[in-house]
Amino acid sequence: MATITLNKVSKRFADGTEAVREASFSIDDGEFFILVGPSGCGKSTLLNMIVGLEEISDGEILVDGKLINDLDPKSRNMAMVFQSYALYPHMSVRENMAFPLTMAKLPKDEIRKRVNEAAEILELGPLLDRKPRHLSGGQRQRVAMGRAIVRKPVAFLLDEPLSNLDARLRLQTRTELARLQKRLRTTTVYVTHDQTEAMTLGDRVAVLKDGVIQQTGTPRQLYEQPHNVFVAGFIGSPAMNFVPAKIDNHRLHIPSLNVSLPAPQWISLERLPETVIAGIRPECFKLVTADDSAGEQQAMLEVSVDVVEWLGADVLLYFQFDVDHWPRVPALARDLNLEKQPGERLDFAARLNTNHSVREGDKIKLAFDVGKLQLFDADTGVALARDG
Ligand code: ATP
Repeated sequence: MATITLNKVSKRFADGTEAVREASFSIDDGEFFILVGPSGCGKSTLLNMIVGLEEISDGEILVDGKLINDLDPKSRNMAMVFQSYALYPHMSVRENMAFPLTMAKLPKDEIRKRVNEAAEILELGPLLDRKPRHLSGGQRQRVAMGRAIVRKPVAFLLDEPLSNLDARLRLQTRTELARLQKRLRTTTVYVTHDQTEAMTLGDRVAVLKDGVIQQTGTPRQLYEQPHNVFVAGFIGSPAMNFVPAKIDNHRLHIPSLNVSLPAPQWISLERLPETVIAGIRPECFKLVTADDSAGEQQAMLEVSVDVVEWLGADVLLYFQFDVDHWPRVPALARDLNLEKQPGERLDFAARLNTNHSVREGDKIKLAFDVGKLQLFDADTGVALARDG
């Protein structure tokens, strides 16, 4: 087991591509650490640098405080599990799992003992004599994990290990992985593009965009206190709703929604940007019934529902607003590809419980508390400073 520390680690490929820029974080001993971000953001490159498959261009990687920049992958004793599992088709499950130990010339008895232990942990005992082609996707994934476990590595590095599985099996295997990691308590670095996987598995998560770490934190910190508009939009499903707003005279105005509210108490009124981005999570809306009246801190919206998605435990409602007043919001255009012209429509989503029978085409009233809004600088995309 080990702590892993990255100090300003960068990667420039020969063709000039800057895949990772000055990545810094520290992974605790036994921690389940996730690297998440959209395709091409540099997650796999970062993982490959940690395991030693890719040289670093700048910076330092330390394991338990010791610099390992120049250590070859074998000497790092980290076990990598790939998306493809990379099992040998002509070998049985037992031989596949034993392979790294056979290569390391461990005594036969020791190999047998470690393979049997791993098979028991992973419930692979009855399958030890099968060939990979006679296994399901989930079982193959477990064999790949088994081959990593037998090595007793200082860390597991997993690159999208669930993406070849169907949705149901992915969910089941995700839970198995979480259990396994809690049981073994081996430091784990896990790469995924799927924010749900990141949030459910990770003790801590680093969100990457264009080779740059945007924020590192617990799933809860990322959800409740995103540092910028990109993290806010990436974490959470459906994604946070965004709309330009202005703060003027202690009031928050959102022209596209026809809303004006007292500005949230926590805002530092010094150095306020001219335009801000207001973000509201779909789950922060409430359905307003005829008897409800809006409180001082509440915005009331009248919307026409155009799509209803029934999920069983809750329901997603989609609706649109006219974009009449849409000031320049570089951060939305740049970080979320959300640029609007006057005359276009703005898409919003709300997640409600199922104590109602809203249908497509219905006109309903929704409310949200100003305290639930997240606010960002329209130019930089950075979350507004909190007072105190
Ligand atoms: P995905 O989720 O699609 O696998 P990723 O986040 O893992 O993406 P990387 O594979 O790390 O992204 O790639 C990061 C960037 O580096 C991409 O722009 C990619 O095209 C580029 N890249 C990767 N390998 C090389 C290489 N050998 N030479 C040049 N550029 C590369």
